[in-house]
Amino acid sequence: LDRLYSFMIRLRLPGGYLNAQQWEALHNITSEHATHVIKITTRQTVQLHGILRSHIKPVLSDFNKVHLDSIAACGDVNRNVTCSAHPKYSAVHEEVFGYADKISTHLLPKTKAYYEVWLDEEKLAEVNEEDPLYENRYLPRKFKIAIAIPPYNDVDLYTNDIGLTAIIEKEKLIGFNVAAGGGMGTTHGNPDTYPRLATAFGYVPKKDILKVVYEIATVQRDNGNRSDRKLSRLKYTIDKMGIDVFKAEVERRAGVVFAPLKKAIFTYRHDEYGWFQNHEGLWYYTAFVENGRLLDDDNVQYKTAFLTIAKSGKAAFRFTTNQNIIISEIAPADKEFVAAILEQHNIIKVTTEASQVRKNAMACVSFNTCPLALAEAQRYLPDLITKIETVLAKHQLQEEGINIRMTGCPNGCARPYISEIGFIGTAYGRYNMHLGADVIGTRLNKLYKENLNEVEILDELDILFGNFVQLRHQKESFGDFVVRQQYV
Ligand code: SF4
Repeated sequence: LDRLYSFMIRLRLPGGYLNAQQWEALHNITSEHATHVIKITTRQTVQLHGILRSHIKPVLSDFNKVHLDSIAACGDVNRNVTCSAHPKYSAVHEEVFGYADKISTHLLPKTKAYYEVWLDEEKLAEVNEEDPLYENRYLPRKFKIAIAIPPYNDVDLYTNDIGLTAIIEKEKLIGFNVAAGGGMGTTHGNPDTYPRLATAFGYVPKKDILKVVYEIATVQRDNGNRSDRKLSRLKYTIDKMGIDVFKAEVERRAGVVFAPLKKAIFTYRHDEYGWFQNHEGLWYYTAFVENGRLLDDDNVQYKTAFLTIAKSGKAAFRFTTNQNIIISEIAPADKEFVAAILEQHNIIKVTTEASQVRKNAMACVSFNTCPLALAEAQRYLPDLITKIETVLAKHQLQEEGINIRMTGCPNGCARPYISEIGFIGTAYGRYNMHLGADVIGTRLNKLYKENLNEVEILDELDILFGNFVQLRHQKESFGDFVVRQQYV
Protein backbone atom coordinates (compact mmCIF):
# COMPACT_ATOMS: atom_id res chain seq x y z
CA LEU A 1 0.00 0.00 0.00
CA ASP A 2 1.24 3.46 -0.88
CA ARG A 3 0.85 6.46 1.38
CA LEU A 4 -2.32 8.49 1.01
CA TYR A 5 -0.74 11.76 -0.06
CA SER A 6 -2.95 14.83 -0.22
CA PHE A 7 -2.14 18.12 -1.89
CA MET A 8 -3.02 21.78 -2.04
CA ILE A 9 -3.75 23.37 -5.41
CA ARG A 10 -3.62 27.11 -5.92
CA LEU A 11 -4.95 28.83 -9.02
CA ARG A 12 -3.12 31.41 -11.09
CA LEU A 13 -5.68 34.18 -11.20
CA PRO A 14 -4.16 37.55 -12.15
CA GLY A 15 -6.28 40.27 -10.55
CA GLY A 16 -8.45 37.62 -8.90
CA TYR A 17 -11.33 37.38 -11.40
CA LEU A 18 -13.67 34.45 -12.13
CA ASN A 19 -16.65 34.45 -14.47
CA ALA A 20 -19.86 32.63 -13.55
CA GLN A 21 -18.97 29.47 -15.45
CA GLN A 22 -15.56 29.32 -13.76
CA TRP A 23 -17.17 29.77 -10.37
CA GLU A 24 -19.47 26.84 -10.99
CA ALA A 25 -16.49 24.69 -11.97
CA LEU A 26 -14.54 25.81 -8.89
CA HIS A 27 -17.51 24.96 -6.67
CA ASN A 28 -17.95 21.51 -8.18
CA ILE A 29 -14.24 20.67 -8.06
CA THR A 30 -14.03 21.74 -4.42
CA SER A 31 -17.00 19.60 -3.50
CA GLU A 32 -15.87 16.53 -5.42
CA HIS A 33 -12.14 16.53 -4.78
CA ALA A 34 -11.16 18.82 -1.89
CA THR A 35 -12.17 19.69 1.65
CA HIS A 36 -15.29 21.64 0.57
CA VAL A 37 -13.70 24.93 1.67
CA ILE A 38 -12.83 27.46 -1.03
CA LYS A 39 -9.98 29.36 0.57
CA ILE A 40 -9.37 32.91 -0.66
CA THR A 41 -5.67 33.67 -0.27
CA THR A 42 -3.94 36.91 0.61
CA ARG A 43 -2.78 37.10 -3.00
CA GLN A 44 -6.21 37.34 -4.58
CA THR A 45 -6.58 33.77 -5.67
CA VAL A 46 -7.97 30.56 -4.20
CA GLN A 47 -6.42 27.38 -2.96
CA LEU A 48 -8.02 24.02 -2.34
CA HIS A 49 -6.75 21.61 0.28
CA GLY A 50 -6.97 17.86 0.77
CA ILE A 51 -6.75 16.77 -2.86
CA LEU A 52 -5.65 13.14 -2.97
CA ARG A 53 -2.93 12.26 -5.42
CA SER A 54 -5.21 10.31 -7.71
CA HIS A 55 -7.51 13.33 -7.95
CA ILE A 56 -4.91 15.82 -9.15
CA LYS A 57 -5.24 15.05 -12.84
CA PRO A 58 -9.04 15.24 -12.91
CA VAL A 59 -8.90 18.48 -10.92
CA LEU A 60 -6.44 20.17 -13.26
CA SER A 61 -8.28 18.82 -16.27
CA ASP A 62 -11.59 20.23 -15.01
CA PHE A 63 -9.98 23.60 -14.35
CA ASN A 64 -8.43 23.56 -17.80
CA LYS A 65 -11.87 23.10 -19.38
CA VAL A 66 -12.85 26.53 -18.03
CA HIS A 67 -9.50 28.12 -18.92
CA LEU A 68 -8.03 28.09 -15.43
CA ASP A 69 -4.61 26.81 -14.50
CA SER A 70 -2.24 26.39 -11.60
CA ILE A 71 0.95 27.27 -13.48
CA ALA A 72 3.50 29.25 -11.45
CA ALA A 73 1.10 29.61 -8.52
CA CYS A 74 3.92 28.24 -6.35
CA GLY A 75 7.69 27.88 -6.78
CA ASP A 76 10.65 30.11 -7.57
CA VAL A 77 8.87 32.02 -10.30
CA ASN A 78 6.66 35.04 -10.62
CA ARG A 79 3.54 34.26 -8.56
CA ASN A 80 -0.03 35.46 -8.93
CA VAL A 81 -0.04 39.12 -9.97
CA THR A 82 -2.40 41.12 -7.78
CA CYS A 83 -4.29 44.28 -8.65
CA SER A 84 -6.54 46.71 -6.77
CA ALA A 85 -9.74 44.73 -6.70
CA HIS A 86 -12.66 47.07 -6.83
CA PRO A 87 -13.74 48.23 -10.28
CA LYS A 88 -14.88 51.55 -8.87
CA TYR A 89 -12.27 53.43 -10.87
CA SER A 90 -14.27 53.38 -14.11
CA ALA A 91 -12.66 52.41 -17.41
CA VAL A 92 -9.16 52.84 -15.97
CA HIS A 93 -9.67 49.88 -13.66
CA GLU A 94 -10.26 47.54 -16.56
CA GLU A 95 -7.12 48.71 -18.32
CA VAL A 96 -4.96 48.44 -15.19
CA PHE A 97 -6.51 45.07 -14.39
CA GLY A 98 -5.48 44.00 -17.90
CA TYR A 99 -1.84 44.67 -16.99
CA ALA A 100 -2.04 42.08 -14.20
CA ASP A 101 -2.89 39.52 -16.85
CA LYS A 102 -0.27 40.79 -19.32
CA ILE A 103 2.49 40.73 -16.71
CA SER A 104 1.46 37.28 -15.50
CA THR A 105 1.54 35.92 -19.07
CA HIS A 106 4.81 37.69 -19.90
CA LEU A 107 6.58 36.11 -16.93
CA LEU A 108 5.16 32.60 -17.26
CA PRO A 109 7.65 29.75 -17.55
CA LYS A 110 7.83 28.53 -21.15
CA THR A 111 7.92 24.83 -20.34
CA LYS A 112 4.94 22.79 -21.51
CA ALA A 113 5.49 20.21 -18.78
CA TYR A 114 2.27 21.19 -16.97
CA TYR A 115 0.23 20.29 -20.03
CA GLU A 116 2.20 17.14 -20.70
CA VAL A 117 2.19 15.80 -17.15
CA TRP A 118 -1.30 16.77 -16.03
CA LEU A 119 -3.32 17.18 -19.19
CA ASP A 120 -1.93 14.31 -21.25
CA GLU A 121 -0.70 16.52 -24.03
CA GLU A 122 1.86 13.94 -25.17
CA LYS A 123 5.60 14.65 -25.58
CA LEU A 124 7.11 13.97 -22.14
CA ALA A 125 10.32 13.20 -24.00
CA GLU A 126 13.65 14.98 -23.75
CA VAL A 127 13.13 18.33 -25.43
CA ASN A 128 15.06 21.55 -25.41
CA GLU A 129 12.61 24.10 -24.04
CA GLU A 130 14.23 27.49 -24.35
CA ASP A 131 13.22 29.89 -21.61
CA PRO A 132 15.04 33.21 -21.85
CA LEU A 133 13.72 34.41 -18.50
CA TYR A 134 14.05 31.39 -16.24
CA GLU A 135 16.73 29.65 -18.35
CA ASN A 136 17.55 26.33 -16.71
CA ARG A 137 17.50 27.62 -13.14
CA TYR A 138 14.35 29.65 -12.39
CA LEU A 139 14.65 32.54 -9.90
CA PRO A 140 16.51 32.25 -6.59
CA ARG A 141 13.19 32.46 -4.72
CA LYS A 142 9.50 33.27 -5.14
CA PHE A 143 8.72 36.58 -6.83
CA LYS A 144 5.65 38.74 -6.23
CA ILE A 145 4.16 41.64 -8.18
CA ALA A 146 1.24 43.91 -7.30
CA ILE A 147 -0.46 46.83 -9.00
CA ALA A 148 -2.23 49.49 -6.96
CA ILE A 149 -4.65 52.13 -8.19
CA PRO A 150 -4.38 55.19 -5.92
CA PRO A 151 -5.83 56.11 -3.54
CA TYR A 152 -6.40 52.42 -2.81
CA ASN A 153 -3.49 50.34 -1.49
CA ASP A 154 -5.47 47.17 -0.85
CA VAL A 155 -2.72 45.10 -2.47
CA ASP A 156 -0.11 46.22 0.09
CA LEU A 157 1.99 47.42 -2.79
CA TYR A 158 5.25 47.84 -0.92
CA THR A 159 5.34 44.28 0.40
CA ASN A 160 5.98 42.95 -3.10
CA ASP A 161 9.17 42.29 -5.04
CA ILE A 162 7.74 44.72 -7.57
CA GLY A 163 5.04 47.22 -6.67
CA LEU A 164 3.51 49.23 -9.48
CA THR A 165 1.42 52.31 -8.87
CA ALA A 166 -0.93 53.13 -11.72
CA ILE A 167 -0.55 56.78 -12.69
CA ILE A 168 -3.78 58.22 -13.99
CA GLU A 169 -4.07 61.65 -15.56
CA LYS A 170 -7.30 63.07 -16.95
CA GLU A 171 -8.92 59.69 -16.36
CA LYS A 172 -6.36 57.93 -18.55
CA LEU A 173 -3.68 55.46 -17.48
CA ILE A 174 -0.36 56.92 -18.60
CA GLY A 175 2.20 54.74 -16.81
CA PHE A 176 3.47 53.38 -13.53
CA ASN A 177 5.63 54.37 -10.61
CA VAL A 178 7.93 51.41 -10.02
CA ALA A 179 9.00 50.15 -6.60
CA ALA A 180 11.10 47.05 -5.96
CA GLY A 181 12.49 45.02 -3.09
CA GLY A 182 9.55 44.45 -0.79
CA GLY A 183 9.11 41.24 1.15
CA MET A 184 7.74 40.09 4.48
CA GLY A 185 9.47 36.84 5.35
CA THR A 186 11.96 36.59 8.19
CA THR A 187 13.39 33.70 10.20
CA HIS A 188 13.24 33.58 14.00
CA GLY A 189 16.73 33.85 15.42
CA ASN A 190 18.36 34.87 12.14
CA PRO A 191 19.25 38.58 12.40
CA ASP A 192 20.28 38.69 8.74
CA THR A 193 16.63 38.35 7.73
CA TYR A 194 14.16 41.21 7.88
CA PRO A 195 10.89 42.49 6.44
CA ARG A 196 11.39 45.29 3.94
CA LEU A 197 9.17 47.69 2.06
CA ALA A 198 9.82 48.13 -1.65
CA THR A 199 11.81 51.21 -2.64
CA ALA A 200 10.06 53.42 -5.20
CA PHE A 201 12.68 54.64 -7.67
CA GLY A 202 11.14 55.89 -10.88
CA TYR A 203 8.29 56.29 -13.34
CA VAL A 204 7.90 54.70 -16.76
CA PRO A 205 5.18 55.16 -19.37
CA LYS A 206 2.89 52.17 -19.77
CA LYS A 207 4.46 51.13 -23.08
CA ASP A 208 7.67 50.25 -21.21
CA ILE A 209 6.27 48.49 -18.19
CA LEU A 210 6.49 44.89 -19.45
CA LYS A 211 10.16 45.37 -20.38
CA VAL A 212 10.93 46.90 -17.00
CA VAL A 213 9.18 44.20 -14.99
CA TYR A 214 10.87 41.50 -17.04
CA GLU A 215 14.34 42.95 -16.58
CA ILE A 216 13.89 43.45 -12.85
CA ALA A 217 13.28 39.71 -12.76
CA THR A 218 16.42 39.02 -14.82
CA VAL A 219 18.54 41.21 -12.52
CA GLN A 220 17.26 39.16 -9.60
CA ARG A 221 17.83 35.94 -11.55
CA ASP A 222 21.47 36.84 -12.16
CA ASN A 223 22.32 38.52 -8.85
CA GLY A 224 20.10 36.91 -6.24
CA ASN A 225 21.59 34.71 -3.53
CA ARG A 226 21.35 31.06 -4.60
CA SER A 227 23.34 29.59 -1.73
CA ASP A 228 21.02 30.59 1.14
CA ARG A 229 17.29 30.54 0.53
CA LYS A 230 16.70 32.63 3.65
CA LEU A 231 18.56 35.51 1.98
CA SER A 232 17.48 35.02 -1.59
CA ARG A 233 14.55 37.40 -2.13
CA LEU A 234 15.02 40.53 -4.25
CA LYS A 235 15.04 42.71 -1.12
CA TYR A 236 18.42 41.29 -0.13
CA THR A 237 19.75 41.58 -3.68
CA ILE A 238 18.83 45.26 -3.77
CA ASP A 239 20.36 45.97 -0.38
CA LYS A 240 23.51 44.19 -1.50
CA MET A 241 23.73 46.05 -4.83
CA GLY A 242 22.44 49.41 -3.63
CA ILE A 243 19.30 50.90 -5.14
CA ASP A 244 21.18 53.16 -7.56
CA VAL A 245 23.24 50.35 -9.04
CA PHE A 246 20.15 48.17 -9.22
CA LYS A 247 18.15 50.87 -10.97
CA ALA A 248 20.97 51.56 -13.47
CA GLU A 249 21.19 47.85 -14.27
CA VAL A 250 17.45 47.63 -14.91
CA GLU A 251 17.66 50.71 -17.14
CA ARG A 252 20.56 49.21 -19.08
CA ARG A 253 18.85 45.88 -19.61
CA ALA A 254 15.42 47.31 -20.42
CA GLY A 255 16.74 50.17 -22.56
CA VAL A 256 14.68 52.73 -20.67
CA VAL A 257 15.46 55.65 -18.43
CA PHE A 258 13.27 56.08 -15.38
CA ALA A 259 11.68 59.49 -14.97
CA PRO A 260 11.17 60.97 -11.47
CA LEU A 261 8.30 59.46 -9.52
CA LYS A 262 4.88 60.93 -10.29
CA LYS A 263 2.65 62.10 -7.48
CA ALA A 264 0.42 59.34 -6.13
CA ILE A 265 -1.40 59.45 -2.80
CA PHE A 266 -2.77 56.46 -0.96
CA THR A 267 -5.46 57.00 1.64
CA TYR A 268 -6.70 53.53 2.59
CA ARG A 269 -6.26 49.81 2.06
CA HIS A 270 -9.22 48.10 3.73
CA ASP A 271 -12.06 46.73 1.62
CA GLU A 272 -15.16 48.86 1.31
CA TYR A 273 -18.05 46.56 2.03
CA GLY A 274 -21.55 46.62 0.63
CA TRP A 275 -23.07 47.89 -2.61
CA PHE A 276 -21.42 50.14 -5.13
CA GLN A 277 -22.57 51.15 -8.62
CA ASN A 278 -19.93 51.87 -11.25
CA HIS A 279 -19.87 54.41 -14.08
CA GLU A 280 -21.66 51.99 -16.42
CA GLY A 281 -24.48 51.44 -13.94
CA LEU A 282 -23.36 47.93 -12.98
CA TRP A 283 -23.62 46.90 -9.33
CA TYR A 284 -20.98 45.36 -7.05
CA TYR A 285 -21.34 43.86 -3.60
CA THR A 286 -18.26 43.38 -1.41
CA ALA A 287 -18.91 40.61 1.10
CA PHE A 288 -16.91 39.96 4.25
CA VAL A 289 -15.36 36.50 4.42
CA GLU A 290 -13.53 35.90 7.67
CA ASN A 291 -9.98 34.84 6.78
CA GLY A 292 -11.13 33.97 3.27
CA ARG A 293 -12.84 30.70 4.15
CA LEU A 294 -15.84 30.17 1.90
CA LEU A 295 -18.08 27.40 3.17
CA ASP A 296 -21.61 26.71 4.33
CA ASP A 297 -22.38 26.51 8.04
CA ASP A 298 -25.31 27.33 10.33
CA ASN A 299 -24.33 30.98 10.40
CA VAL A 300 -23.72 31.78 6.73
CA GLN A 301 -23.93 29.84 3.48
CA TYR A 302 -21.43 31.36 1.05
CA LYS A 303 -21.09 28.36 -1.22
CA THR A 304 -24.79 27.77 -1.76
CA ALA A 305 -25.38 31.47 -2.38
CA PHE A 306 -22.54 31.94 -4.83
CA LEU A 307 -23.35 28.74 -6.71
CA THR A 308 -26.94 29.92 -7.15
CA ILE A 309 -25.72 33.30 -8.39
CA ALA A 310 -23.17 31.70 -10.71
CA LYS A 311 -25.76 29.34 -12.18
CA SER A 312 -27.98 32.29 -12.96
CA GLY A 313 -25.15 33.87 -14.95
CA LYS A 314 -26.08 37.24 -13.48
CA ALA A 315 -22.71 38.09 -11.87
CA ALA A 316 -18.96 37.48 -11.88
CA PHE A 317 -16.65 37.15 -8.87
CA ARG A 318 -13.55 39.07 -7.80
CA PHE A 319 -11.30 38.21 -4.91
CA THR A 320 -9.56 40.88 -2.87
CA THR A 321 -6.11 40.70 -1.30
CA ASN A 322 -7.87 41.19 2.03
CA GLN A 323 -9.40 37.72 1.47
CA ASN A 324 -12.89 38.97 0.68
CA ILE A 325 -15.08 38.64 -2.38
CA ILE A 326 -16.83 41.11 -4.67
CA ILE A 327 -19.96 39.90 -6.45
CA SER A 328 -19.43 41.80 -9.66
CA GLU A 329 -20.96 43.24 -12.79
CA ILE A 330 -24.59 42.89 -11.80
CA ALA A 331 -27.01 44.56 -14.19
CA PRO A 332 -29.47 46.93 -12.46
CA ALA A 333 -32.35 44.62 -13.37
CA ASP A 334 -30.61 41.71 -11.58
CA LYS A 335 -29.60 43.49 -8.39
CA GLU A 336 -32.75 42.51 -6.52
CA PHE A 337 -32.27 38.86 -7.44
CA VAL A 338 -28.65 38.82 -6.23
CA ALA A 339 -29.46 40.82 -3.10
CA ALA A 340 -32.21 38.37 -2.16
CA ILE A 341 -29.80 35.43 -2.38
CA LEU A 342 -27.17 37.24 -0.34
CA GLU A 343 -29.84 38.10 2.21
CA GLN A 344 -31.31 34.62 2.33
CA HIS A 345 -27.92 33.06 3.07
CA ASN A 346 -26.97 35.60 5.74
CA ILE A 347 -24.10 37.12 3.77
CA ILE A 348 -25.39 40.68 4.07
CA LYS A 349 -26.03 40.14 7.78
CA VAL A 350 -22.52 38.81 8.40
CA THR A 351 -21.00 41.65 6.38
CA THR A 352 -23.05 44.34 8.09
CA GLU A 353 -22.81 43.08 11.63
CA ALA A 354 -19.11 42.20 11.88
CA SER A 355 -17.10 44.79 13.79
CA GLN A 356 -14.62 47.00 11.96
CA VAL A 357 -11.71 45.37 13.74
CA ARG A 358 -12.88 41.93 12.60
CA LYS A 359 -13.44 43.09 9.04
CA ASN A 360 -9.94 44.56 8.88
CA ALA A 361 -8.22 41.51 10.39
CA MET A 362 -6.38 38.89 8.43
CA ALA A 363 -4.70 35.57 9.23
CA CYS A 364 -2.66 33.12 7.22
CA VAL A 365 -3.61 29.47 6.74
CA SER A 366 -1.17 28.02 9.29
CA PHE A 367 -2.32 24.85 11.13
CA ASN A 368 -3.46 22.33 10.10
CA THR A 369 -2.36 22.50 6.51
CA CYS A 370 0.83 24.58 6.43
CA PRO A 371 3.96 22.57 7.25
CA LEU A 372 5.83 25.69 8.40
CA ALA A 373 3.29 26.61 11.09
CA LEU A 374 4.53 27.13 14.65
CA ALA A 375 1.25 28.52 16.05
CA GLU A 376 -2.40 28.76 15.07
CA ALA A 377 -3.58 31.62 12.86
CA GLN A 378 -6.83 31.42 10.87
CA ARG A 379 -8.36 28.83 13.24
CA TYR A 380 -7.59 31.02 16.26
CA LEU A 381 -7.72 34.67 15.23
CA PRO A 382 -11.57 34.83 15.10
CA ASP A 383 -11.73 33.84 18.81
CA LEU A 384 -8.97 36.23 19.75
CA ILE A 385 -10.75 39.04 17.89
CA THR A 386 -13.90 38.31 19.93
CA LYS A 387 -11.86 38.85 23.10
CA ILE A 388 -10.16 41.93 21.68
CA GLU A 389 -13.62 43.33 20.82
CA THR A 390 -14.46 43.10 24.52
CA VAL A 391 -11.31 45.03 25.44
CA LEU A 392 -12.04 47.64 22.77
CA ALA A 393 -15.60 48.01 24.05
CA LYS A 394 -14.31 48.49 27.60
CA HIS A 395 -12.48 51.58 26.34
CA GLN A 396 -15.31 52.74 24.03
CA LEU A 397 -13.17 51.93 21.01
CA GLN A 398 -15.59 49.49 19.38
CA GLU A 399 -15.84 51.61 16.23
CA GLU A 400 -12.06 51.59 15.67
CA GLY A 401 -11.00 49.45 12.73
CA ILE A 402 -7.49 48.83 14.02
CA ASN A 403 -5.69 46.61 11.54
CA ILE A 404 -4.72 43.27 13.17
CA ARG A 405 -2.94 40.44 11.39
CA MET A 406 -1.69 37.06 12.53
CA THR A 407 0.59 34.45 11.02
CA GLY A 408 1.64 31.07 12.30
CA CYS A 409 5.30 31.68 11.51
CA PRO A 410 7.62 34.54 10.51
CA ASN A 411 7.23 33.81 6.80
CA GLY A 412 4.55 36.49 6.94
CA CYS A 413 1.96 35.28 4.40
CA ALA A 414 -0.76 37.56 5.84
CA ARG A 415 1.68 40.49 5.76
CA PRO A 416 1.71 40.95 9.57
CA TYR A 417 4.73 43.28 9.55
CA ILE A 418 2.63 45.97 7.95
CA SER A 419 -0.32 45.85 10.34
CA GLU A 420 -1.01 48.18 13.24
CA ILE A 421 -0.98 45.12 15.53
CA GLY A 422 0.82 42.06 14.23
CA PHE A 423 1.02 38.63 15.86
CA ILE A 424 3.71 36.27 14.61
CA GLY A 425 3.69 32.73 15.91
CA THR A 426 6.76 31.55 17.82
CA ALA A 427 5.44 28.32 19.40
CA TYR A 428 2.05 26.76 19.97
CA GLY A 429 -0.08 29.41 21.75
CA ARG A 430 2.72 32.02 21.71
CA TYR A 431 3.17 35.09 19.54
CA ASN A 432 5.55 37.96 19.06
CA MET A 433 3.54 41.17 19.17
CA HIS A 434 4.43 43.90 16.71
CA LEU A 435 3.05 47.43 16.76
CA GLY A 436 3.04 50.59 14.74
CA ALA A 437 2.42 50.24 11.00
CA ASP A 438 0.36 53.01 9.44
CA VAL A 439 -3.14 52.52 8.01
CA ILE A 440 -2.13 52.88 4.36
CA GLY A 441 0.63 50.30 4.24
CA THR A 442 3.68 52.55 3.93
CA ARG A 443 5.37 51.92 7.29
CA LEU A 444 6.50 48.65 8.86
CA ASN A 445 5.63 47.86 12.45
CA LYS A 446 8.24 46.90 15.05
CA LEU A 447 8.61 44.18 17.65
CA TYR A 448 6.95 45.23 20.91
CA LYS A 449 6.89 42.10 23.09
CA GLU A 450 8.02 38.53 22.54
CA ASN A 451 6.38 35.14 23.11
CA LEU A 452 3.08 36.31 24.57
CA ASN A 453 0.25 33.95 25.36
CA GLU A 454 -3.41 34.97 25.10
CA VAL A 455 -3.72 36.36 28.61
CA GLU A 456 -0.58 38.44 28.16
CA ILE A 457 -1.77 39.71 24.77
CA LEU A 458 -5.10 40.86 26.20
CA ASP A 459 -3.42 42.46 29.22
CA GLU A 460 -1.05 44.39 26.97
CA LEU A 461 -3.89 45.55 24.72
CA ASP A 462 -5.95 46.62 27.71
CA ILE A 463 -3.16 48.94 28.83
CA LEU A 464 -2.40 50.19 25.31
CA PHE A 465 -6.05 50.87 24.46
CA GLY A 466 -6.53 52.67 27.78
CA ASN A 467 -3.60 54.94 27.03
CA PHE A 468 -4.80 55.40 23.46
CA VAL A 469 -8.11 56.77 24.71
CA GLN A 470 -6.39 59.07 27.17
CA LEU A 471 -3.56 60.41 25.05
CA ARG A 472 -4.52 60.12 21.40
CA HIS A 473 -4.54 63.16 19.17
CA GLN A 474 -7.73 63.82 17.28
CA LYS A 475 -8.39 61.10 14.67
CA GLU A 476 -4.94 59.65 15.26
CA SER A 477 -4.68 56.01 14.24
CA PHE A 478 -3.56 53.42 16.76
CA GLY A 479 -0.46 52.68 14.67
CA ASP A 480 0.55 56.34 14.63
CA PHE A 481 -0.22 56.67 18.34
CA VAL A 482 2.08 53.86 19.48
CA VAL A 483 4.91 55.27 17.37
CA ARG A 484 4.41 58.82 18.69
CA GLN A 485 4.30 57.50 22.24
CA GLN A 486 7.46 55.48 21.54
CA TYR A 487 6.04 52.11 22.54
CA VAL A 488 8.14 50.87 19.64
FE1 SF4 B 1 2.74 31.32 5.63
FE2 SF4 B 1 3.98 30.69 7.92
FE3 SF4 B 1 1.36 31.06 7.86
FE4 SF4 B 1 2.45 28.91 6.76
S1 SF4 B 1 2.42 29.44 8.94
S2 SF4 B 1 0.82 30.16 5.87
S3 SF4 B 1 4.32 29.78 5.89
S4 SF4 B 1 2.93 32.60 7.46
